[in-house]
Amino acid sequence: MKRTRLLKTIMRSFASASEINVEFIARGKFVLTNNDGYATAGILEDGAVYVSGQNIVEVSPYKDLKATYPNTTVIGSPEFWVMPGFVSAHQHGKGLTSYQLGGLDDCLELRVSALPQAKVDNYLDTLYGCAQMIEAGITCCIHYNSSRGPALYETDILERIRAYREAGLRVSFGLDIRNRNYLVYGDDDFYSGLPERLRNRAREEYDKPRTAAPDDYFRLARRLSETIEKESDGRIKIFFTPAGPQWCTGDLLKAIRRESEEMQLGVQMHLLETKYQRSYFARTYGQSAVQWLDHLDFLTSRTSLAHGVWLSREDAVILAARGTPLVHNPSSNLRLRSGIAPIQMLHEVGVPLALGLDGSPLNDEPDIIQEMRLCANLQRVPGVDSKIVPLKEIFHMATVNGSKALGWGQLAGSLERGKRADLVLLNAKNFSRPYVAPQQNPIDTLITRGKSSAVDTVIVDGEILYQGKKHLRLQPNQIVESLQKSVIPPAPVKADNLGDELLPYVVRYYQPWDKDELLPFHQVNSST
Ligand SMILES: [Zn+2]
Repeated sequence: MKRTRLLKTIMRSFASASEINVEFIARGKFVLTNNDGYATAGILEDGAVYVSGQNIVEVSPYKDLKATYPNTTVIGSPEFWVMPGFVSAHQHGKGLTSYQLGGLDDCLELRVSALPQAKVDNYLDTLYGCAQMIEAGITCCIHYNSSRGPALYETDILERIRAYREAGLRVSFGLDIRNRNYLVYGDDDFYSGLPERLRNRAREEYDKPRTAAPDDYFRLARRLSETIEKESDGRIKIFFTPAGPQWCTGDLLKAIRRESEEMQLGVQMHLLETKYQRSYFARTYGQSAVQWLDHLDFLTSRTSLAHGVWLSREDAVILAARGTPLVHNPSSNLRLRSGIAPIQMLHEVGVPLALGLDGSPLNDEPDIIQEMRLCANLQRVPGVDSKIVPLKEIFHMATVNGSKALGWGQLAGSLERGKRADLVLLNAKNFSRPYVAPQQNPIDTLITRGKSSAVDTVIVDGEILYQGKKHLRLQPNQIVESLQKSVIPPAPVKADNLGDELLPYVVRYYQPWDKDELLPFHQVNSST
């Protein structure tokens, strides 16, 4: 099918909220505002939100709003709860997960042996991912792009951005870059230990650019940031997303710091996802990755970091002092055998925390409500005196804190006058039937019992994208059908698969690192 025809069949016509003057009252038994000014502990009972155009005009008891705006359409009822849209603050914007495509669901460091994976159309894949996120009540996310190399770098990005524009989500779109350690942490040492025949083959295969060169990268970031925001009606902004400190040289990170300041763009980077990444900095630089980044003056409140499983308390103190947010990805950290991030310690020290799905959530689908639950329960270590992260904080991580980490803090993340109307209506029957005692806090109930199947209505920028569990912009059946047709199955595995030949050498390379002293702060990661 020709692309233009395909587009017509999978898209409905739409107009943004700024073009049509939308006006409605969103009503719920509870309105979870994330703003203590409107109600005790941010929860308004029998409340409502009055929306006009893109903005929230008023948050008040329902009866007051109904009296002030008697002719305005009401969506929701006492069977619904109203809340700010969820924010997935770290992920790679894949519709089909890495597992579905044939990826290895295991340690990051072992992925060298990954079998060939299926290929899909970038645009359709992202559009499918958007449909899934909308169904899960996610109104805002980061797209941390994973490019296929310098030749297709810009094409890949434009295809994926097009999908977000058409889906109507709020997105911080991250341009990826890396320029070292393509195979292991410390490529030169590793290559020197390989038999010569394998060394030459490995260098030829792995030791080549994976992303745009820095000059082209910054030029593209500037060009896109000048156009995309306008073209997306202010819903998409460009981010710098360097792969991680072990994958980027200090000079590259300093340049990103400088350019992000000059262009006023946000930054996100992976950090200390695995214990080997922590060892790499201790072994190579005699300091922690966080100290190394701090010496580069890289850490700011505009730069968020993803994972942080192996952060020490000293690292956390530095992040808190710089106001640098940490995005927690509990499912991904479990599935990839990375460990459990010390969220309680980070919270206690004052590091701003957000939550992300990272493309490999627990059910292999973007249920961020269940991700909050996993986040909460993983921090419950034994002991009558052990501290737990308050569920309200976890709710903030998945909403307002994520919004701040992705650079949308002024506009979204809470329900208050003047903010953009990014909100979700949950059908509370889904998690409170037949009975939940009235003394239970609604946020606790949502995190303890909720699932994304409770999401009924999703609104971004005042525009209703999903209502009564039906998409208003996207046609999900056609997207799924077209995506299915676009799949190119994995290439047959070669007998002399280079990754498989390298795997024993990679394992042997890291084995001595397992003996490094790591002093983890999460009890579950500890040998004590
Ligand atoms: Zn990631």
